[in-house]
Amino acid sequence: MILVVGGAGYIGSHLVKELVENQEVVILDNFNTGYEHLVDEKALLIEGDLGDPVVLDKIFTSCKIEAVMHFAANSLVGESVKNPHKYYENNVANTLTLLNSMIKHGVKNFIFSSTAATYGIPEVDLITECSATNPINPYGKSKLMVEEILKDFHDAYGMNYVVLRYFNAAGAHRSASIGENHDPETHLIPIILEHLLGKREQIAVFGTDYPTSDGTCIRDYVHVTDLARAHILSLEALLKGRFSKNTYNLGNGKGYSVKEVIETCERVTNIKATIDYSERRAGDPAILVASSEKIQNELGWQAEHNLESIIESAWKWHSKNALTHS
Ligand code: UDP
Repeated sequence: MILVVGGAGYIGSHLVKELVENQEVVILDNFNTGYEHLVDEKALLIEGDLGDPVVLDKIFTSCKIEAVMHFAANSLVGESVKNPHKYYENNVANTLTLLNSMIKHGVKNFIFSSTAATYGIPEVDLITECSATNPINPYGKSKLMVEEILKDFHDAYGMNYVVLRYFNAAGAHRSASIGENHDPETHLIPIILEHLLGKREQIAVFGTDYPTSDGTCIRDYVHVTDLARAHILSLEALLKGRFSKNTYNLGNGKGYSVKEVIETCERVTNIKATIDYSERRAGDPAILVASSEKIQNELGWQAEHNLESIIESAWKWHSKNALTHS
């Protein structure tokens, strides 16, 4: 049985949808940022907090857990700057409680959701796992702290782990039954699509004076189901004892500017956007693009979706969602 912490969130729920095909799954979620309608009916749901050792004891004694996948975190850069305590408490201290409980119960396989924010402002065009990690906000720092803890837990307690550093997760499940839904929404693609559906008056483009071809920020967008497959490949490798201490980037290796993302959304939906060119948002590096060669070579992972198909899947989900809630 696999424990998915945060399985009712955006990325966790997409992973669970794939994982339940071959594994028994138990989800632990406190529904702070997750939603009950995202929980897959084939999974066992426990409502509780990953920082609660009593709940963890119950799960680890009543279920035979082979591995833990940990998606439950706060992940908004701006919020982390304003409220670092929340980020260090939930992302670091609570994760430490989870790891301690795993050690106590002899569970030694762990897959950790990390982020491109661990790199800070990169000095290279294509970021590899060897690029310097200099996070510039508490969110990135909190994730890097757990990565450091994992290295020490591996050496001291034999914890086997895979760290997956996501670039910009986007898109929705092919069934259009689940998709990206944050409250409040801060991410670019859902904001554009909500605008094109008439739910927002305009799209604010944060900064037009970056050192990029059109002056707007460049990001590497990766489909949420591609992320889910990377988790499953990592799990298979861990359970076979193939790897014990690995870190992988997950991106498409191709960057798109904010303007290009808006243009692609306009093309996919055949609707014209109204744009408000505004100031830079604090904490945004100009360019973040991943090299994912390492996971391609070691685990055979390949991103199957490009920006266009990411947006097509998101649009399908957003339009369906707009219809069901109107
Ligand atoms: N962005 C924007 N307008 C928005 C939301 C985001 O211009 O309403 C930009 C943001 O500055 C960044 C890119 O879009 O350059 C992706 O931002 P998002 O919040 O989706 O992901 P992040 O890169 O922060 O993880």
